[in-house]
Amino acid sequence: MRDFAREIEERKQVGLYRTRRLVSGPQRPELTADGNRLLSFCSNDYLGLANHAANIEALQNALPQTGLGGAASHLICGHHEAHHELEQRLAAFTRRSAALFFSTGYMANMGVISALAGRGDTIFSDSLNHASIIDGCILSRARIQRYPHGDVNALESMLRETSGHKLVVTDGVFSMDGDVAPLRELARVCRENDALLVVDDAHGIGVLGPEGRGSVLDAGLTEQDVPVLIGTLGKAVGTSGAFVAGSELLMDYLVQKARTYIYTTAMPPAMARATINSLDVIEQGDHLRAHLDGLIARFRAGANELGFELMASHTPIQPLMVGDNESALGLSRALEARGFLVTAIRPPTVPAGEARLRVTLSAAHSMADVEKLLVALSYCRPTLPVRAAASV
Ligand SMILES: *Cc1c(COP(=O)(O)O)cnc(C)c1O
Repeated sequence: MRDFAREIEERKQVGLYRTRRLVSGPQRPELTADGNRLLSFCSNDYLGLANHAANIEALQNALPQTGLGGAASHLICGHHEAHHELEQRLAAFTRRSAALFFSTGYMANMGVISALAGRGDTIFSDSLNHASIIDGCILSRARIQRYPHGDVNALESMLRETSGHKLVVTDGVFSMDGDVAPLRELARVCRENDALLVVDDAHGIGVLGPEGRGSVLDAGLTEQDVPVLIGTLGKAVGTSGAFVAGSELLMDYLVQKARTYIYTTAMPPAMARATINSLDVIEQGDHLRAHLDGLIARFRAGANELGFELMASHTPIQPLMVGDNESALGLSRALEARGFLVTAIRPPTVPAGEARLRVTLSAAHSMADVEKLLVALSYCRPTLPVRAAASV
């Protein structure tokens, strides 16, 4: 039998041991975690909608009509009109013909990728894609070819050398780096090489593009350019669930084939109503996105002045690259001692030697919150053996 206790001990020794914090109260920048009030800069609630009064009210108002549980899978008797309305709303929101609602983004990626490729096919996957994409690729049993992060030229030559059914999968906004995939170029090489493009816009929906419609619409790409668009609802949308959007034919096919859609209980339908409300808030949320952009710009300028190594990101994901696991944990602890919560991100979530503090900003933060974080970082700075030290 495997020695689980020893494996855990080994993880502790290399700074890879993971723990959970106990949160009480709603998700918001002022977070109570393990009984301490901290100012949080690590949630994915980019617009502050996870605790939005009108969304909570929409959920409460829906409950008497929908009841609580989903009770069955969509294909048995769980497909409620609230889910259906949400699918229509998501299709309109993403300017697609149709959409299909999944219970989580993890399940959407697992189900969609494994439905659209199988044995004998080839999937091309960006080297920094999210774990759920990687697992979807493995589940499909297709041949997996990882291409260097964002490298369209490398992808193009790999595509040219491959025949048969080809799928290209990428994050829209990369979850741990915050940069945006070269979507227009990806769409072009996919069109020229007869490959099906799948974009997972978990971190773009709500934040980027006109009315927050995401990175794909920000790049001006249609359903023909990006036939398979995946989005999640637990991040900027502030509720729960995920979706895939595209043609009617694609949705019909996925209803037949996506096992994580077929063999799981439908989400409580009231949550779909809350999500519809949240999409209204997002469409009318230019002021939220403008405020967020201001926070991002201020944080980048301030962190840069302090000599931190920033990444090429204009999104709310603003990681501070550290390097080794212990230093990342050390910086996180130093910030916590000053009342800030910024979790250290370590391998295998990021490549070895690229541990970082994944700072995320939210429209729920004030400019004063960002200033406070920068002051705290200026004090914690000396504990950091960062590579950018020479530029200070
Ligand atoms: C968070 C995330 C997911 C998973 O979505 P959940 O709804 O949280 O399961 C999928 N893809 C990317 C890129 C993500 O960042």
